[in-house]
Amino acid sequence: MSVTREAIETRFHPASAPDYLPIPLLQHLQLERLRAMVQRAYEKVEFTRKQMQAGGMTPEDVRGLDDIARLPFTIKTDLRDNYPFGLFASPMQEVVRLHASSGTTGKPIVVAYTQGDVDVWTNSMVRTLAACGLSKGDIVQNAYGYGLFTGGLGLHYGAEGIGATVIPISGGNTDRQIMVMKDFGTTAIVCTPSYFVHLIERAGEMGVDMCELPLRVGVFGAEPWSESMRQHIESRTLLKAYDIYGLSEITGPGVASECACQHGLHIFEDHFYPEIVNPQTGESLPEGEEGELVLTTLSKRAMPILRYRTRDITAFLPGACPCGRTLRRMRRITRRSDDMFIIRGINVFPSQVETALLAVEGTLPHYLIILTRDKGLDQMEVQVEVTPEVFSDKIGALEGLQARLVHALDQVLGIRVEVRLVEPHSIARSEGKAKRVLDRRQA
Ligand SMILES: [Zn+2]
Repeated sequence: MSVTREAIETRFHPASAPDYLPIPLLQHLQLERLRAMVQRAYEKVEFTRKQMQAGGMTPEDVRGLDDIARLPFTIKTDLRDNYPFGLFASPMQEVVRLHASSGTTGKPIVVAYTQGDVDVWTNSMVRTLAACGLSKGDIVQNAYGYGLFTGGLGLHYGAEGIGATVIPISGGNTDRQIMVMKDFGTTAIVCTPSYFVHLIERAGEMGVDMCELPLRVGVFGAEPWSESMRQHIESRTLLKAYDIYGLSEITGPGVASECACQHGLHIFEDHFYPEIVNPQTGESLPEGEEGELVLTTLSKRAMPILRYRTRDITAFLPGACPCGRTLRRMRRITRRSDDMFIIRGINVFPSQVETALLAVEGTLPHYLIILTRDKGLDQMEVQVEVTPEVFSDKIGALEGLQARLVHALDQVLGIRVEVRLVEPHSIARSEGKAKRVLDRRQA
């Protein structure tokens, strides 16, 4: 099985050529694109022009790449405030596609693409899939949702672009997913990691052994996931599980991807200029320091975005990647400042809880964090499913496991929280992004 995993990424795809540009050439290209983009945004988008004017900036002030730090930030509410089309730099006749965020609260965020934007997006998705070892001849089951969400169509265009066979099955209908995977000979699956964990589990119940299928690559994104989750997936299948990154505000999936080395994600920085800033002060941070990822679109025509605050926490990784790509790498994102909650004054990220839980033998990666308030004091309960073997065992085994989990969480979070072991299947499964936190403190 290790032979299959190591043999990945032996074929070079021509679309990946910019991944290997000498750094001075890459920087030259970035600056050229940055200046053209800023000029265009200034002329065509009133919001950007006013923001730049408020900061005393004109497009001519962008002379070097470092000048990007003088440009204004764009935040999520700026996109909401300009709903639906206020940030478009192209007339509607040139816009060939609209997408929108799910918009769980209030209005969604709308994003637009010219034909050129769709081509750039497809290019970065082809490069993503090439970095994950896919090529012509692969059969790609696309279980991301198709629709206003960018995941489905982004992966679809990328997989077609690389010459693979696409199965546009979209999310949901788990039993059919497994039937198709088996009958169509799927070699690569793309979906959220939490949904794939659900697929593994359901396949087992249906008597389908994933290790006997030709499935060899998983391309997972759209939600933060931990290294322990990767181990969970890879130990139960023969596939190599890759992390990809993107967001609709910038393009969709295709902003960054792991390569065969699986040590950080290469950012397609000829199209998306990355910075890491201190989330409190907005100041740029040097390589290696952890902060908030900020992205500027360098090629986008319909909706250029200056310095978008992603709220994703990461750091640039120093040094060159053994794969030979010159694109900068960022550490995989396991924390989003949006996901953070505060309990008794402690900042907690769901991924910390996930890592602690999965490090203990006998647990499954299905968990739910429930926050309540009792007599003014915050309470946190972690429900986690345990393997059927543990659950059917004597009470003593369960108590021992519970004590180990309480201890493991205490080590990571520095507070004692309640742990409730629940039987397999008692926590609701998601067909897209998993819901990990139920905050009942306001109710
Ligand atoms: Zn690499």
